Amino acid sequence: MKNNFKHKNVLVYGVSISGEWASRLLNKLKANVYIYDDDKGRLNKAKIKNAYLIHELNEMLIGQFDFLVVSPSIPLDNPYLMIAKRLNKRIYSEVEFASLFSRNLVAITGTNGKTTTVELTAKMLSKKCKAVACGNNGYPLSRAVIENKRAVHVVEVSSFMLEHSSSFNPHIATITNIAPDHIIRHKTMDEYTQLKFSIFKNLTIKDYAVINLDLDIRPSRDCICITYSQKHMADIYLKNGYIYLRENRLIALNELKLKGEHNIYNAMCAIAIAYIYKVPLNKMREVLREYNSAEFRAQVVGKINDITFINDSKSTNIASTLACVNSLNTSIILLLGGQEKGLDYSELFKSLPKRIKQVVAFGEIADKLVMQNTDFKIEKVDDLNSAFEFAVNIANPLDAIVLSPASASYDQFLNYIERGKAFNNLVHEYEKNRQNR
Ligand code: ADP
Repeated sequence: MKNNFKHKNVLVYGVSISGEWASRLLNKLKANVYIYDDDKGRLNKAKIKNAYLIHELNEMLIGQFDFLVVSPSIPLDNPYLMIAKRLNKRIYSEVEFASLFSRNLVAITGTNGKTTTVELTAKMLSKKCKAVACGNNGYPLSRAVIENKRAVHVVEVSSFMLEHSSSFNPHIATITNIAPDHIIRHKTMDEYTQLKFSIFKNLTIKDYAVINLDLDIRPSRDCICITYSQKHMADIYLKNGYIYLRENRLIALNELKLKGEHNIYNAMCAIAIAYIYKVPLNKMREVLREYNSAEFRAQVVGKINDITFINDSKSTNIASTLACVNSLNTSIILLLGGQEKGLDYSELFKSLPKRIKQVVAFGEIADKLVMQNTDFKIEKVDDLNSAFEFAVNIANPLDAIVLSPASASYDQFLNYIERGKAFNNLVHEYEKNRQNR
């Protein structure tokens, strides 16, 4: 890749972890790096060498920059970006900018299943070549292309990251699924869907799209398509309780460590990508038998007095909560709630299975949940602690208490990880108190 950035003045907008690593990459490219963040505290704390901190941004200053690299937290309608656009400045998203320096890029987007599919894919590819999971998982692509230059970069791409990514051109691209999410940021479902589809936009006839035939998601570009399906004939398909890869019987479903129908899709998607990289079947099998989801994805935290506690804090939309509860066949007390995201929860209540014996609604959207509920017993409480207390008081042996909140955590927590940890702590405290009785 020709270095178009040498001695250029580049504004990095947003001192997130991706902004920090984009700055480091720009330093390596010998660009003049300027950093700005709306949050002055964060800007002053930034530990980036050889970069100028900008405390006030204005039109004249924006006019001096050759390029902008923006962090995913900056929305399209940000006023400074509007000015930059009016001045015809080239704006890169961090992932698009970093992708210019990757020789082998696999990009995975979708509403749900990204992290699971990215991790599984990277593990399978690692059996054949150097591969790293990166992107929206705390290890930005800008960092991966510095530290693991020659690896296959399996990048998790959120819809936020696809804004300002007009030239983003992975060698392999896939969309796991699309369901309502992030409507406040993207305004309409149409806009959100279009952004997701933009991952296919620059594929060429030498590139691959991995496609789930059970969904209506197809690239409009000419490219090589590898398909998977649980219902139809495809390159990867189901037969008699086994996953097949073309004519090869790959693995029995009950040998998969991941559980639930949604995870069969995630596994099939990863198999398709591993197939493109010619990973031997026995190596794929090894990974599928060993790999379990990351923390807070339908994680069984414990079983106390025959009540199972399940932590699915990573479920931040309706589709992911449905995937989680549908993968369980017990009677469920479901803890729902969190920050308003513009979702219509009547869709959730229409589809929840009848084995939900009680819903406990908490957080910012609790009233909305109560209003949009149709058939289920629902109790409104303030926060996760009270939701947990209510649940354990009404639970019977063989019930599962499931935190699968179907909304973002930011109303009461720093992020879904903190919410997940809080739930795990409540379970451990409950267990301790029972033992001390
Ligand atoms: P993401 O990175 O897209 O948020 P994860 O792999 O972290 O996805 O999974 C988050 C949650 O989404 C899981 O806890 C599960 O409930 C749900 N989920 C995972 N894969 C799928 C899928 N293929 N379809 C629907 N829901 C899924």
